[in-house]
Amino acid sequence: MTNIKLGIVGGGQLGRMSALAAANLGIETVIYCPEPDSPASQVVKTTINGAYDDQTKLQEFADQVDYISYEFENIPVETVEFLEQHKPVYPKASLLQASQDRIEEKTFLNNIDIPTARWAAPKTPQDVLDTLNVWNAKECILKTTRFGYDGKGQARYTGDTDIETLWTQFNDQTLIMEEIVDFTCEISVIVARDVNGKIIHYGPMLNEHKNHILSKTTLPAPLDKDVCDEAVRLTERLAKHIGLKGVLTLELFVTSDNSLLANEIAPRTHNSGHWSIDACAHSQFENHVRAVCDLPVLGPARHSDCEMLNLIGDDVENLDEMMKTDKACIHIYGKHEVKPGRKMGHVTILK
Ligand code: AMP
Repeated sequence: MTNIKLGIVGGGQLGRMSALAAANLGIETVIYCPEPDSPASQVVKTTINGAYDDQTKLQEFADQVDYISYEFENIPVETVEFLEQHKPVYPKASLLQASQDRIEEKTFLNNIDIPTARWAAPKTPQDVLDTLNVWNAKECILKTTRFGYDGKGQARYTGDTDIETLWTQFNDQTLIMEEIVDFTCEISVIVARDVNGKIIHYGPMLNEHKNHILSKTTLPAPLDKDVCDEAVRLTERLAKHIGLKGVLTLELFVTSDNSLLANEIAPRTHNSGHWSIDACAHSQFENHVRAVCDLPVLGPARHSDCEMLNLIGDDVENLDEMMKTDKACIHIYGKHEVKPGRKMGHVTILK
């Protein structure tokens, strides 16, 4: 019997699915989040509700658990640094920090020879125009360096737009500009690395988006073996380089000549890996818990090809057909309010 208590900061669906995987291993999870009745709280015995900067509550949380992880990347780095003083926290705050800032993230990736789209850090609208001149390009994507997700905090600059007007829409936030990648598809690789340095991986997965939100993931990705191997190699290089303990995800573009360009790091389990609950012996959530709690990572021993469909907004109210389908594995996250664009659950369809 394991006698471990795991603390997870964040109350969303990733925390919920990690807590369920932990329970299967006999590990009790304590959730820390500001919201009452969160998706993760609904499946654990203990939740501590507190703000991410409430050191008294954070201390109370740390005192109750043996290991700590987090389930989304927009928690303040200071919260993780505070918790690190009290209990082992994985992944480390340094990875969280790099993933929260697109400039730090791209610099870090490029420094370890992981290619990205060409990028620059413009300080003024004129810098955007000057850089486009150097790139000999007419268009680019502008993104806020922090707190962007699901396409929020980004805009495409085309020669037709007025750059000053576009710039002011960002309200003085620090921006990165990126060349527009003419990609043929978007993929991701998830790796888990344990205390002994063993690495296992999921994918690459083929990811399709609607309105910038992940809509469908297909496994295996229909790509050349060389491309798949390279995507895994790049993600493993990243994990080794940072001495990862836990799970991380690398999102990549595949271009028409089969080159790979990294787009984003997520220092956590990922929506594109949810199929692993139903199509593998060992899911991304189980391996997340294992890696963080100093247990060996395993497998993942995928036994089925599959597709994962996100249930976004009112998709969750139209499940009659899925409910009658043998190979459809439904997961509902327990969010009380249906909102457009909100991830309410997912379905894995085994092939
Ligand atoms: P991100 O917030 O960086 O994950 O971007 C959200 C989505 O915007 C990506 O999944 C892509 O579909 C698209 N996108 C982001 N960056 C670029 C780029 N440099 N070139 C082309 N499309 C992009």
